Amino acid sequence: MAQLDTREKLAILADAAKYDASCASSGTVKRDSRGGKGVGSTEGMGICHAYAPDGRCISLLKILLTNSCIFDCHYCINRKSSNVRRARFTAQEVVHLTLAFYKRNYIEGLFLSSGIIRSSNYTMEQLVEVARALREDHDFRGYIHLKTIPDADPELVRQAALYADRVSINVELPTVSGLERLAPEKSATRIEGAMKDMKLGIEDGKDARKKYRSAPKFAPAGQSTQMIVGADAANDGDIVMRASQLYDRFALRRVYYSAFSPIPSPSAVLPLKRPPLMREHRLYQSDWLMRFYGFKPREVVSAAGDDGMLPLDIDPKLAWALKFRDSFPVDVNKAPREQLLRVPGLGTKAVKRLLQSRRWRAITLDDVARLTVSIAKVRPFITTSDWRPTLLTDRADLKTLVTPRETQLDLFAG
Ligand code: SF4
Repeated sequence: MAQLDTREKLAILADAAKYDASCASSGTVKRDSRGGKGVGSTEGMGICHAYAPDGRCISLLKILLTNSCIFDCHYCINRKSSNVRRARFTAQEVVHLTLAFYKRNYIEGLFLSSGIIRSSNYTMEQLVEVARALREDHDFRGYIHLKTIPDADPELVRQAALYADRVSINVELPTVSGLERLAPEKSATRIEGAMKDMKLGIEDGKDARKKYRSAPKFAPAGQSTQMIVGADAANDGDIVMRASQLYDRFALRRVYYSAFSPIPSPSAVLPLKRPPLMREHRLYQSDWLMRFYGFKPREVVSAAGDDGMLPLDIDPKLAWALKFRDSFPVDVNKAPREQLLRVPGLGTKAVKRLLQSRRWRAITLDDVARLTVSIAKVRPFITTSDWRPTLLTDRADLKTLVTPRETQLDLFAG
């Protein structure tokens, strides 16, 4: 490997990490250095969480320890047979970079992943060493997300969870057959075994802390995983069902979806085109429907077309409502929360406000309009004290009426 300076390594290893979507820092515990002890914080004034429009966290230093790898996963730009420039940080270099960027307020924490060098255990030891040095040698109290390696010794993965806020283990592909075809050196059994161990460790850690306040924290922000979308033949229905199964079995905080990006010199088994980014977005929306809107996975899947794909032109909640029109209209003044959450265009906050307001007075269409971005989208699906959508939900052209119109951005506007 050619001798590179830190800036060159950073350029290569930050770029190589961009394919990993699972870096949001939600759900961690409060930990800060106010009072003069330690460095960093996961919460509080002066530290802002910045998210890109697609929901990805952008305030972590997100890098790979190395983009060299002894594995040859077909979809990965860092695979052994890929002709890319390689670079590698030492554990100490990552520690210094994290602290330097943190002190300049560029970042609020670290997201660290790695290709596999020498062996899974050796690589995992290096990742753990970064987290250990940050926590123990530098009293770093910012956020740490470590990507763990399912094949590594469980004791090393356990150590990672003692230093990191969040750990993640990628399932990589939505189906076992996809994994066998595109990442033959990986094993779904080992990946799921590692996720199960992590789940048990997190539960034991929580129990221990209930009994003894001094018990160490164990991955307090839980575990997450990532699936690549569009590299294999899995449709959205397969992906939604797989995600729901993973949430149930391993108590995951998040399943992240990453639209497959074609890579230079791709293997012949890969599709030539990337899936539309909107597909990734629709999967995130379906994920929210299951986690916050009370939708069962089968209900989300029922919003998909005959090919098992969610529509790209409308969100899955609207697609569901248009298919199951007999569930509407919903009486905003009487319906329970679960039914209100089914109304297209009403988010969880709007529903909360409606439930509060209707205790004191009857809700009108104007009241609802003040709580939503598009009353045109909501109107056909509700009744209020002054509005009833006569025959509206039966109209064949309802979808056209409620689909947001695409607007051409004007270069010279404003
Ligand atoms: S193990 Fe990870 S880094 Fe290595 S080729 Fe597979 S996906 Fe890429």
